[in-house]
Amino acid sequence: MKFISTRGGERVTGPEAVVRGIAADGGLFVPETFPAVTDGEFEAMLGMDYPERAALLLRKYFEEYDGEELLGALRTAYSQFEGGDPAPLVRMDNGMYLLELFHGPTCAFKDMALTVLPYLMRKGADMLGIRETILILVATSGDTGKAALEGFRDAEGIKVMVFYPEEGVSKMQKLQMTTQDGENLDVVAVRGNFDDCQSGVKKIFASEECVRKLAEKGVRLTSANSINIGRLLPQVCYYFSAYLDLVTSGQIAMGDKVDFCVPTGNFGNLLAAYYAGRMGLPVGRLICASNKNNVLTDFFRTGDYNVHRPFFRTMSPSMDILVSSNLERLLFESSGRDAASTAGRMADLAEFGRYAVSESERAALGKIFTAGFASEDDTVDCMYEFFMEYGYPMDTHTGVAMSVAERLMQKLNDDPMSEKHPLVVVSTASPYKFPQDVLYALTGNDVKDSFKGVKRIHLLTAMKVPEPIKSVRYKPIRFKTSVSPEKMFDEVLRFASDAQ
Ligand SMILES: *Cc1c(COP(=O)(O)O)cnc(C)c1O
Repeated sequence: MKFISTRGGERVTGPEAVVRGIAADGGLFVPETFPAVTDGEFEAMLGMDYPERAALLLRKYFEEYDGEELLGALRTAYSQFEGGDPAPLVRMDNGMYLLELFHGPTCAFKDMALTVLPYLMRKGADMLGIRETILILVATSGDTGKAALEGFRDAEGIKVMVFYPEEGVSKMQKLQMTTQDGENLDVVAVRGNFDDCQSGVKKIFASEECVRKLAEKGVRLTSANSINIGRLLPQVCYYFSAYLDLVTSGQIAMGDKVDFCVPTGNFGNLLAAYYAGRMGLPVGRLICASNKNNVLTDFFRTGDYNVHRPFFRTMSPSMDILVSSNLERLLFESSGRDAASTAGRMADLAEFGRYAVSESERAALGKIFTAGFASEDDTVDCMYEFFMEYGYPMDTHTGVAMSVAERLMQKLNDDPMSEKHPLVVVSTASPYKFPQDVLYALTGNDVKDSFKGVKRIHLLTAMKVPEPIKSVRYKPIRFKTSVSPEKMFDEVLRFASDAQ
């Protein structure tokens, strides 16, 4: 399988797409075609465990990697998840399903891919004969940063530098990042929001001067954000796995359609569901759930993407994003894989902060995607009622998705003509990752200290506190630097100059 740029410039192998992270023309790598999963493969996957299912699917994209070795890497990755199954599907009494993707080493769904990406990147670099140090720059709204740090900790020949918005992550997320062990890592707070971090990183990637200065030091840049195709494709696997689990447990018959509702920020997770559909998974509706930063809701409803709007800090910080990078991959598909049109829209976005798609394109997207958003009050209400009714505590991001999902279910139920499918809500983080806001939602109580929040949630719910949350409590803070967005490259240069 070859990968091409959404802006038309390139055609490369899987290892190259992973190691490069982003195309030279600024576009994102996408598979040249969507490989189909055959009926026989669907049948075979029913009897497989998660790593085997993932290996079968990923092999279709990454045929340069040795199959046995890839399976071994997937087994190692997912053995780090608590409870055995990395993607358990929980049936709720309201008839919905929650796909829990937060049992990994950092308690957010980012682990599903960031435990696998280090193998794809290290092996890819070896296959390409790359000798320079690889420096991964990460812009994070909280969860990617920690998962990348943990995934690449002490990886040979690879360094990771994470930029996060100083005031834009939860206290627990910040603690998780600033206490991280590992000699090849650095973490820097940026005095700005996530979009400032993301555009700062993108500027460094796009600057010939920055790239040249780093090359002089024997360093080449790449990305571990969901713009990296090696991040996106492992995420496709859990949609298949959830579907297969519904079949094996007798909840659906093979071929029945299933809807997925996903709490969305950079649009990587939901795009993975779309990719799964293109590979033949019978997906019904894909529901894009946003918080108050509802730029995607407006886009799917009107066809107009416009970042000129207030930016809100919410209790679901990993979704506080106005520029959803992965939408570029969807636009590439919706425009009929028209690279010139995609490049034009991205240029409009960079220059004017907006672009629009045609009404027919919007209508075609509307056949697959439904969008909605939840206010802070909606989210708190939903989390509270869900806990009181079903005894299930969820995190604030999942709360956004559940609030949107419940309203949509209601609407569909009220409409006798509507087509109905089972609905899977993707649960992206452990409630213990956002303890103060979760406690507030469940009880109305405010606590100042994150660990007091953890304790109260545990007393209230009896839900096990994950090891990674327990262990950050007494760790020393290692990373204290904070910079303005203009100074990000200085930090990169300093870190690149450090001997590893
Ligand atoms: C990253 C993240 C999201 C948003 O996922 P995208 O792939 O960026 O759309 C939602 N919830 C949590 C907990 C996250 O960490």
